[in-house]
Amino acid sequence: MAAQYLFRLDDACPWHDRARWHAVEQLFTDHDLHPLVAVIPDCKDPAFLKYPVDADFWARAKSWQEKGWTVALHGLEHIFHTHNRGLVPFNAYSEFAGMPLSEQEAKIELGYKLLVHHGLRPQVWVAPAHSFDRNTLLAINAKTPIRIISDGLSNQPFSRFGFSWIPQQLWRARELSRGVWTICLHPNEMTELDLSQLQAFLQDNRGACISWQDALASQSQLGKIRPYGLFDRLFSLLFLTLRRIKRYARPAGSHASPQT
Ligand SMILES: [Zn+2]
Repeated sequence: MAAQYLFRLDDACPWHDRARWHAVEQLFTDHDLHPLVAVIPDCKDPAFLKYPVDADFWARAKSWQEKGWTVALHGLEHIFHTHNRGLVPFNAYSEFAGMPLSEQEAKIELGYKLLVHHGLRPQVWVAPAHSFDRNTLLAINAKTPIRIISDGLSNQPFSRFGFSWIPQQLWRARELSRGVWTICLHPNEMTELDLSQLQAFLQDNRGACISWQDALASQSQLGKIRPYGLFDRLFSLLFLTLRRIKRYARPAGSHASPQT
């Protein structure tokens, strides 16, 4: 199967770099492509509170949904309380992993209700810093109708712990030979060069880019999705090993890939 690309935009909340988010939105609109947007329900993260507040943010988020973008629940406050890596071991800090189930249920329920209160219909889970554990999944299962995770390492979607996982492996658009690849972008941090590279990628590969509604439609019947297995474990091991090698080889101060 030829490569297919999905795009995910992280850290949507009222505090953001308006010009950069607008530029990214324009690119996806120009290419008639519907990304996943990960929305923080009650942002308390100082990394975002430094931006001016956008009083119209929730109306704008609703307008994204109305034009076909898919909304993801991106934690609750985007504040890290534990040093637990969870199931996707990129970062040793988490808003959820390692916390008791009852606490996770309360946070997930509140986050989901806040997004619904703002008129959004979250269909996907995106953990801040990729860090979540089995209790997070139990909490999502108990408190929301969400059954799809955007995270994990493989080159194809898989089912695991009662959820459909659409893996997320890239933080910059690049051409690959085969598989389903989710490219996670952080619009607040994108430079002019990042934007022009994204535009070039979309121009050259629009036919291979799929909208999230299409991806979700193919993941809706959990019984038909390939279960997580040996191939995925090997993919994950190889990916994490290569990442470690690249990190050691990377010049000091350059951009780390899996962000929060
Ligand atoms: Zn985030």
